[in-house]
Amino acid sequence: MHRKKKVCVVGSMNMDLMVTADRVPEQGETILGDSFAMSPGGKGANQAVAAARLGADVEMIGAVGDDSFGHVLLSALKEEGIHTEAVQFLAGIATGTATIILSGSDNRIIVAPGANKQVSPELVQAQKEKIADSSILLLQLELPVETVAAAADIARQNDVPIILNPAPYQELPESLLRSAAFLTPNMVENAAMQESSLYSFIKEKLILTKGKQGAAFYEKGEVTTIPSHEVDVKDTTGAGDTFNGALAAQLSDGRSVIEAVTAANAAAALSVKKAGAQAGMPTLSELEQFLD
Ligand code: ATP
Repeated sequence: MHRKKKVCVVGSMNMDLMVTADRVPEQGETILGDSFAMSPGGKGANQAVAAARLGADVEMIGAVGDDSFGHVLLSALKEEGIHTEAVQFLAGIATGTATIILSGSDNRIIVAPGANKQVSPELVQAQKEKIADSSILLLQLELPVETVAAAADIARQNDVPIILNPAPYQELPESLLRSAAFLTPNMVENAAMQESSLYSFIKEKLILTKGKQGAAFYEKGEVTTIPSHEVDVKDTTGAGDTFNGALAAQLSDGRSVIEAVTAANAAAALSVKKAGAQAGMPTLSELEQFLD
């Protein structure tokens, strides 16, 4: 029987709260908007869902508040078949939220990290067996950087390869950059990373997402570019998360880098055809059909 390999995600969970209006209010003004919608988000949760849809056995480590959003987020992950035993409910702390005001092409977002900010190195240490038992660890930068570093240390000590998605970008400690097997910046994040004195060293680890230009990776000094698929673009939100989750699912399943990047590039193309970060993330059969 085919044994599923485990992807461990140590990352953020947010409730996205989206309101649409004809215009954004002025200072001190209250206006009537059009619509309101809530959907589960956060880079950690999004990437976990992308990996699970593609057949990976996914373990989520992180925290939510002991409030209604926290319970909704956890149920949503469970519905995707994601293991959530290592997600902590933190009493007296709010679940992370992203409040999005959408007005035509103007979007304004405030993220209130809430429980995500409280995910400590100790909380991750307490789950170290789960990281050690994984075939890949998937990290982003929406948790405190010392927590991301602690998760990476556990993985390194147990020979678990790490995919580090350096988003939202911030300068990273050298040890964290050295621990990662793969770094997956988008074009903006890559431009920021080029400022680093370590860039020539980390170049070999890069899997670059290039929006509608597809994706590229470095191997033995050579760049290989996988062009994007032409699709009807509805909403690119979550394209990067779909790419990262898919990449982790593929690598944990023993695929080569070129196979994994090719599949992730296709999964991300499918995701932009639908509105919403998670709504368009394909299942394995949808991906296989698309690539047929
Ligand atoms: P986002 O922040 O919108 O989630 P990102 O900036 O993290 O995305 P991008 O590099 O824009 O990441 O996109 C990630 C991947 O999604 C690309 O490498 C590509 O595979 C796919 N993709 C993005 N935009 C398009 C598009 N217009 N057409 C086809 N594929 C796309």
